[in-house]
Amino acid sequence: MGQTLAEKILSEHADHKVRAGELAIIKVDVCLTQDGTGPLAVRQLEKLGMVKAANPDRTVLFIDHSAPSARKELSNDHMLLRQFAKKTGAHLSEIGDGVCHQVINERWIRPGDVLIGADSHTCTGGAFAAFSTGMGSTDVAVGIALGKTWMKVPETIRINVNGEFPKGVYAKDLILHLIGQITADGATYKALEFGGPTIDAMPQHERMVLSNMAVEAGAKTGLIASDSKTKRFLEAYGRGNEFREIYPDPDAVYEQIIDIDASKVVPMVAFPHRVDNVKTIDEAKGEKIDQVFIGTCTNGRLEDLRIAAGILKGKQRHPDTRLIVVPASRTIYGKAIEEGLLTVFNDSGASINTPGCGPCVGVHQGILGDGEKCLSTMNRNFKGRMGNPEGFIFLASPATCAASAIAGEIADPREVS
Ligand code: SF4
Repeated sequence: MGQTLAEKILSEHADHKVRAGELAIIKVDVCLTQDGTGPLAVRQLEKLGMVKAANPDRTVLFIDHSAPSARKELSNDHMLLRQFAKKTGAHLSEIGDGVCHQVINERWIRPGDVLIGADSHTCTGGAFAAFSTGMGSTDVAVGIALGKTWMKVPETIRINVNGEFPKGVYAKDLILHLIGQITADGATYKALEFGGPTIDAMPQHERMVLSNMAVEAGAKTGLIASDSKTKRFLEAYGRGNEFREIYPDPDAVYEQIIDIDASKVVPMVAFPHRVDNVKTIDEAKGEKIDQVFIGTCTNGRLEDLRIAAGILKGKQRHPDTRLIVVPASRTIYGKAIEEGLLTVFNDSGASINTPGCGPCVGVHQGILGDGEKCLSTMNRNFKGRMGNPEGFIFLASPATCAASAIAGEIADPREVS
């Protein structure tokens, strides 16, 4: 009987061939924490008397969620992370280096790896055929110290995607469409495995959107086979030699198979306060928006900024709608400068912030006022997510966000570009 991608990768990291449903001890290749969860992990290790990293070269402590720091308490936490990195030899990703789930993929992830991270969107690495999953700080702390973890091997839901996206439709629309269909807990503790001709043709930055949002359906990870697109991404970051092909067996056993025709997907918007509360652009348009935020580990990549800048070039944001742009990493920021994208955003009236999470997690750089509405390229729109439970968050693609920033209300990107 063949294996799914999840079973295949986890088997390589256990001491035997594993099957879905089995509990297994798994060797860990890469560990990450961020500045919200990292201090908890470090304090836990101090309590356990295990201030060490089994694999310091592949342990990365990110300062990205509140970067630069918004409060002295957070500054002290940042100091703790810097000290831990010095003591153990682990890497520290500093203020301005970017969001953990972008930078870990630029610099560390390899196809076939197991990555555990103290952040729910660690699943982004699944786009590289790496079993990447979010865990609690204590679990990741133990993974850092011992180089292994335990888990139940998940069942897999296979998502087969066929057909070409219509103009103005992107991976973000596809994943919102899927989550609307299976709901926010439709894949709880399952692995999603994306495949089919549309995924084969999809560039790596778009695949990362699908894997990133797998957790929004409750999934433990969102896997995609590695291929020439994966290789090209690694080559662009000087790591082509770390590529290897890894794919599911043709006779793998899935818990469920879902088929989607990409040519039928339209621009989608998730309405407050659930990611599965999705509407088509025709149902959503006309909703007044106070703030548009383009960035995050979901859609803050160079290609996203190009799309948004292509729509905003020569235009102004609506006078009643603020626009915030945050490149996902320092590398992306640099390339956006070189390509003149940041000039386009600046000229359109945007505020451009330090690479990192920006206002996504609600600690700084764009907290909403009471009753205000934000349309964002982020992955999550729970009540209070952006720092104010009286705010309202809508989710969409960079194209829809850019078009809406100009209109001052949710707008159809197909009518603007
Ligand atoms: Fe989390 Fe948002 Fe940062 Fe991504 S950008 S890691 S979703 S806070």
